[in-house]
Amino acid sequence: MKLEVDKDVCIGCGACQAICPEVFEIDDDGLAKVISDNVPKDKIEDATDAKEGCPVSAISDVESDTNNIENDDNNAE
Ligand code: SF4
Repeated sequence: MKLEVDKDVCIGCGACQAICPEVFEIDDDGLAKVISDNVPKDKIEDATDAKEGCPVSAISDVESDTNNIENDDNNAE
């Protein structure tokens, strides 16, 4: 799972950082940024909560790898 924040839309409320600080951080410009290129599997739920909880829907999914989670294990060669 890979997320991105549209800074043109973000209002810097900080909710995403509060919900999932491992993935979101308020940048120097006061707006959120994604600090984790690929959301760790154990943070996908928190990151999804943050995405859905954003009051202005500034967070979007650029790459959803939900279907690849099982494949990751199978591909461990
Ligand atoms: S929850 Fe949305 S509006 Fe608030 S800081 Fe995060 S991306 Fe910006």
